[in-house]
Amino acid sequence: MTKQTCKTCEKEFEIRDADLVFYEQVKTTPPLYCPDCRMARRLVFRNERTFYKRPCDLCQKDMITVYSPESPFTVYCHDCWWNDSWNPKSFTMDYDLTKPFFEQYRELQVKVPRLGLMVLNNVRSDYTNGSAENKDCYLVFAADFNEECLYGRLLQRDKGCVDCAFLHESELCYECLDSRNCFKCMFCEQCQSSSDLLFCYNMRDSNNCIFCTNGRHLSNAILNVKYTKEEFEKKKAEILSSYESIEKAKKEFEELKTKTIRKFACQTKCNNITGDYLHNCHQGVMLYDTYDAKNCSYMTDTENPTDSQDCNNYYYKSEFCYNVMGSMQMSQVKNCAFGFYSNETEYCENCYNLTSAFGCTAIRKGEYMILNKQYSKEEYYKLRDKIEEQLRSDGTYGQFFPASLAPFGYNETLAHDFFPLTKEEAVKRGFTWQEKTTGTYGKETIKKGEIPNTIENMDDKILNEILVCEDCDKNYRIIKAELDFYKRMHLPLPHKDFECRHKERISKRNPRKLWHRQCMCEKENHGHEKNCQNEFETAYSLNRPEKVYCETCYQKEIY
Ligand SMILES: [Zn+2]
Ligand SMILES: [Zn+2]
Ligand SMILES: [Zn+2]
Ligand SMILES: [Zn+2]
Ligand SMILES: [Zn+2]
Repeated sequence: MTKQTCKTCEKEFEIRDADLVFYEQVKTTPPLYCPDCRMARRLVFRNERTFYKRPCDLCQKDMITVYSPESPFTVYCHDCWWNDSWNPKSFTMDYDLTKPFFEQYRELQVKVPRLGLMVLNNVRSDYTNGSAENKDCYLVFAADFNEECLYGRLLQRDKGCVDCAFLHESELCYECLDSRNCFKCMFCEQCQSSSDLLFCYNMRDSNNCIFCTNGRHLSNAILNVKYTKEEFEKKKAEILSSYESIEKAKKEFEELKTKTIRKFACQTKCNNITGDYLHNCHQGVMLYDTYDAKNCSYMTDTENPTDSQDCNNYYYKSEFCYNVMGSMQMSQVKNCAFGFYSNETEYCENCYNLTSAFGCTAIRKGEYMILNKQYSKEEYYKLRDKIEEQLRSDGTYGQFFPASLAPFGYNETLAHDFFPLTKEEAVKRGFTWQEKTTGTYGKETIKKGEIPNTIENMDDKILNEILVCEDCDKNYRIIKAELDFYKRMHLPLPHKDFECRHKERISKRNPRKLWHRQCMCEKENHGHEKNCQNEFETAYSLNRPEKVYCETCYQKEIY
């Protein structure tokens, strides 16, 4: 293990021996930045939720896009970008060995049209991004194969869910987080294979529960105690009777959660791994929100990756990749943003079916390309090696695109969600900042505090009203599908706009950060003397109020 000082934040970080083996394997140089700063550099290429309206630079029709009207790029709508009427290969540049690589790449980046939104095969779902195969969805992000879902992030194969995040294969859920296989659950976290849960935490195979935690096979229960069906229904109706009673229940649930025993990490079927929100992961460190991973480290939001490091939003069996933001089925790819079905590419953006390429953007099929120009195999490798040599001599080879090449302002991207910075700090680190905010203020037709507290007698007139967020004063509206959902589920209208609701939801999750701690269990019937001596890496910091247990002690307390 070696220690290194991060060139961005100046904090010390570790490079493990296993990392060095990996860098050797993928033929790159060790990083100059700590894992967090590496991640931030990738995330600033991902503006997921900051939408703008601007005309498409080809057809001139108004479109929803993640590029602000002031952005220096040429931006095309989905239909135009994928149309054969223009050719990304017509934007070739000859490589000039006397000029820095990134300067030349920037020139290409500004010239070649960019895709307004990262979407694929969606139906009637215009206001989504980072999404594919959705039907009738609205404001869902990093979401695939959903139907009739509104307002969410990381939704996979859900139906009719509203205001949820990190939700899989569920139906008719509201305000649920980190859950799977749930039906008609509301205000729940970390629940699985359950139905009709209300304000529950970490339940499995349960139904009709309120304020229950760490339960298995429970039904008609309140605070983990069994009640009759009638008593349960009465309590449920009481909570859902008005906006105030729901707000009160939210507070009670937060208090209940702090008293609930926590497993050191949300991990199932994992071994030799550190991180949180993991399933079936083997061998690696600092993984978050990852499923079915083998020998991967420093990754988040990924599914079935192998032998890779430092990747985000990385899907469909990608392997041997390093420093990648957004990928489907890639192999031996380094320092790329948004690559699909590609091999052996470096410093490329938004390319598809590309093999052996360096510094390309918007290519839909090709091989042996540099700055969008085609070469013979021999010429390609000769020039590519010279560029690598050039980058190695100025010390930038192997690091992700520099901050100055990020296509968005820091505060428009996921980097700001996970590693918030002030404008001054962001600018000091070389990022840009988006000054103009989206949305409107002060246009509300219903004043603060005047939103009806129940859904009773609410008619479609509300769809013409402009509401105001009680937190940030931004205006927002209710859409028809949303109103229908609230009516069906007997829920009052929200008093906050989507962005504030989203942030509140996400803030309930553990941070993507680890602390070394000891198990807090003092139970006498566990077979350990006084305190359990087991240690672990956990996303629960030392000053958190929850009791954090090791796997063994935790399993003994689940019932
Ligand atoms: Zn750092
Ligand atoms: Zn267009
Ligand atoms: Zn707000
Ligand atoms: Zn323990
Ligand atoms: Zn114990």
